[in-house]
Amino acid sequence: MTLTVVGSIAFDAVETPSGSRDRLLGGSAVHFSLASSLLAETRIVGPVGDDFGDAEYAILHRRGVLTDDVEHVPGGKTFFWAGRYHRDINQRDTLQTDLNVFEDFEPKLSEASRAADVLFLANIQPDLQREVREQCERARFVAMDSMNFWIESAHGSLLRTISLADCLLLNDGELEQLTDEPNLTRAARKALELGPRFVIAKQGEYGSALYSRDGGYFGITAYPTADIVEPTGAGDSFAGGLMGFLAAHESEIDEAALRRAMAYGTACASFNVEGFGSERLYELDRAAIDARVAELEQMTRF
Ligand code: AMP
Repeated sequence: MTLTVVGSIAFDAVETPSGSRDRLLGGSAVHFSLASSLLAETRIVGPVGDDFGDAEYAILHRRGVLTDDVEHVPGGKTFFWAGRYHRDINQRDTLQTDLNVFEDFEPKLSEASRAADVLFLANIQPDLQREVREQCERARFVAMDSMNFWIESAHGSLLRTISLADCLLLNDGELEQLTDEPNLTRAARKALELGPRFVIAKQGEYGSALYSRDGGYFGITAYPTADIVEPTGAGDSFAGGLMGFLAAHESEIDEAALRRAMAYGTACASFNVEGFGSERLYELDRAAIDARVAELEQMTRF
């Protein structure tokens, strides 16, 4: 099964109370594919500038991520994002978002990427997400992410993209903001009315919750790691584990498949927060993910 992801490819600067980094490989599609590639072959789509070089490609290639659809824009600068975390690491402020090469990006997918069976529209301008969705006509399962930045600045376009997805993944606060509904369950139900069959609310260190259109609900705790260093990309690596599992899943993508996929997402996210950016995922192998999924299964059985 083939998996394609479109989203930001970025350099990030992050500050935490215990340390900072001014240039990390980041971006929603990068965090996603560093996780998904542990479970399924992944093609990444997005533009980069002259500052994106061999060292960055090498990190993706070591994981087997296929980068044929990474478009190099001559003279351009790669997307840049800067954020600062509070002492409560669930709280962060965005300090800077420079779209750079994304401002004029028009996705033109190769035949191989268009043939995606499973497609993830990672966090990026919702018009771009829709353009990619429309090119992947044969996708049997499409999931998407977004964030407050787009909920505020591109609301109508975001609603149109959501109507084309099978599954919407958002942070709990973003779901409440999207639907103008302070109760998470009601917010998720309202989001289901926008079109998707499934809505997943990401709840940071508290885990995640799945709501399905036929009334189903599933909740899973986060993996209780004490080694938290820096959480940027936790949501994207959660999505990567989730979609990687689904891309490798031959039978129907139903609620049962999504429940198991959420355990894989949870395991990937737990590794992601144990280092700056997605550094902790660079050298990880499938066995480490499987071991955490088995632990999660033990922890949540009663
Ligand atoms: P997360 O921590 O899962 O919310 O993802 C953080 C990643 O999203 C960082 O690596 C950023 O480069 C990227 N990012 C931040 N803001 C945006 C945005 N407005 N659009 C797309 N990607 C973004």
